Amino acid sequence: MRVLSFPTLQVAHNKKINMTSRYDILFQPIKIGPVTAPNRFYQVPHCNGFGYRMPLGMATMRGMKAEGGWGVVCTEETEIHYTSDLSPYFEGRIWSDDDIPTWQLMTEAVHKHGALAGIELTYNSHDAANLYSRASAFGPRSMGITGGSGYEPGQTRAATKDDLKQVRKWHRNAAIRAKKAGFDIVYCYAAHNMTLAFHLMSKDNDRTDEYGGSLENRTRFFRELIEDTKEAVGDTCAVAVRFAVDELLGKDARGVQFDGEAHDIVAMLAELPDLWDVNLSNWANDSVTSRFGKEGHQEKYISFVKKLTTKPVVGVGRYTSPDSMLSAIERGIMDIIGAARPSIADPFLPNKIREGRLDDIRECIGCNICVTGDTRFVPIRCTQNPTMGEEWRRGWHPENIQSKKSEDEILIVGAGPAGLEAARALGQRGYHVILTDARREAGGRVLLESALPNLNEWRRVIDWRITQINKIKNIFFYSSSPMTAKDILEAGAPHVILATGATWRRDGMGRHLSRPVPGNGKIFTPDDLMDLNMGSDSSLALRVLSKMQEQAPALQKILIYDDDHYYMGGVLAELLAENGCDVTLITPAPLISYWTQFTLEQERIIKRLHDLNVTLLENHVIASHTPTSATVTNIITSAESTLACDAIVMVTDRIPNDALYHELKPALAEGKLKSLRIIGDAEAPNIIAQAVFAGHLAAREFDEQVNPDETPFKIER
Ligand code: ADP
Ligand code: SF4
Repeated sequence: MRVLSFPTLQVAHNKKINMTSRYDILFQPIKIGPVTAPNRFYQVPHCNGFGYRMPLGMATMRGMKAEGGWGVVCTEETEIHYTSDLSPYFEGRIWSDDDIPTWQLMTEAVHKHGALAGIELTYNSHDAANLYSRASAFGPRSMGITGGSGYEPGQTRAATKDDLKQVRKWHRNAAIRAKKAGFDIVYCYAAHNMTLAFHLMSKDNDRTDEYGGSLENRTRFFRELIEDTKEAVGDTCAVAVRFAVDELLGKDARGVQFDGEAHDIVAMLAELPDLWDVNLSNWANDSVTSRFGKEGHQEKYISFVKKLTTKPVVGVGRYTSPDSMLSAIERGIMDIIGAARPSIADPFLPNKIREGRLDDIRECIGCNICVTGDTRFVPIRCTQNPTMGEEWRRGWHPENIQSKKSEDEILIVGAGPAGLEAARALGQRGYHVILTDARREAGGRVLLESALPNLNEWRRVIDWRITQINKIKNIFFYSSSPMTAKDILEAGAPHVILATGATWRRDGMGRHLSRPVPGNGKIFTPDDLMDLNMGSDSSLALRVLSKMQEQAPALQKILIYDDDHYYMGGVLAELLAENGCDVTLITPAPLISYWTQFTLEQERIIKRLHDLNVTLLENHVIASHTPTSATVTNIITSAESTLACDAIVMVTDRIPNDALYHELKPALAEGKLKSLRIIGDAEAPNIIAQAVFAGHLAAREFDEQVNPDETPFKIER
């Protein structure tokens, strides 16, 4: 192997400190009603896209959390009756005794590792579209359906007192089934702006019977649910509540508020449940992305709860640092650390803390790709953890991987998320891996994108992988090493994996335009704007602007054309607007940053761009450009208009950097290489999660027989 360049010097953090005494409190058992959780790590209910449709996938994923040390592992929201049918979403179902065996899969998988299993029972009122059951749901009043797409035609019917009695009966029956299925904790759910119990307590309740009017009346139904559940299963099961203490709607909107009615509701019910699991409503506020909220962001809202009850309190806040967890308990914010996303990114987080392997924790980056499993009706995925959702169907374990099958050496070109993950996982298998990158620093697109406004946590994708790579002696990283096909063949490795990324198009072609946009305007791409001078100490925004100014003096008005529809167009608009540019963002989609609705960010993006005075124009494509203007066309009416601009940023398709692959293919055919694989954005540009997955897949499949005619995973039928 010839020396390609200077290996990057990185300090190996091979710390293995005994942290158990320092973080002792996190590992103390805690009594929850009649049951005892083995520690303070609690996987709160979270959707996962498997639901009732793929119970084996769901149960195996939950079992993995228990194996990784989570003391309590809960289900997703679970429909108690066919009139609360959440289709097209795939959630849990416990409509009848026939559902019990399905849930036993999960309780057994969780109990096997000494953890408790919790189930979140729900009757979802107008959040249930009942598209499958065709039933009418009960609401506090007859009100528009918000389930399904959010805008399904139809309304609930106003629940009569007899209807409310029915719901109580269904809830009670579901609790009894849950107990039979082996659950240790049974939830009464009033959160996320989604349940009948919540709506009866909130602004949606205009009833004049004993369930409406005073706060006591509005809380009556929730109180009854808790009492019924305790009576039905409370001898052996803990009865938990999930309660949203604030809707972040502001005082005028009459939403539930932490320093208003929520406070009084907790005070009223304080000792009734065995556990308070408290959070924010709606889901976008609860699972805020790192672009809009940081670790511990809910503390301000939930901290009052512990002052009103002696029962254990669980809270969430995307805690990934054991010090923050410890601090949240020591400051009396909560007794138990609740987590959905941190448990998805690292199912083994508790065990790693217990073993003192803090730098092995794969920290959640707060991107909400996991949420898109639910919102796009597919099994859960995770940017940081490529094994998430693959536990049953591919048999992937987040910590373990099969050992190497040969002594062959592998050369990986490109150290972006795909190359880094492929190198790490192949190294973990025991292979001798050479990883190269043209740049001085590893990370590829993540290195560049994490320097954009508020995306800094995304760097964790690189940091975790570099830390792991530094611990694996058989991986060698050569930075500042641009590779040609000749270099690659001379390097002599029999196996080559190309992870060379992709380049943003400059010509405007993409989903909507199949020909280059004509014109002589000044064009930038995201690559231009992110092309950092890593040695400079000025901020990215300033560097970008001065670079742009060099190329197009007196740049003032910038038009961004976004046919990518995820975060990039909006983030660049933010970057430029924050630095004094007059920005117009146009998109052919009916919504700005269309796909971010599935990561629960879209409304926040609009708000931020609005606050930065960015002009937003939906349903438009760019037709042509000059140095001072762009002509745009409304894709629905075909109306044309001209917008003044000094430069245009094209955020459209990307071109795979696959030239090396095509150059090397003859060498493969001639037997000079044993294998050649192209992965990640170089194969087919996609989101970062897909690049990490592609890297992991390449490592798992290396030296294995893969039959292209067969589906490479098990299917639940
Ligand atoms: P992915 O998302 O698929 O991992 P990225 O674009 O993030 O792709 O990363 C690709 C990486 O490959 C970049 O860091 C880039 O510098 C590197 N790269 C591209 N071409 C070469 C090459 N010929 N030699 C070495 N490194 C390369
Ligand atoms: Fe965290 Fe993103 Fe993984 Fe979700 S997908 S757990 S937000 S890293």
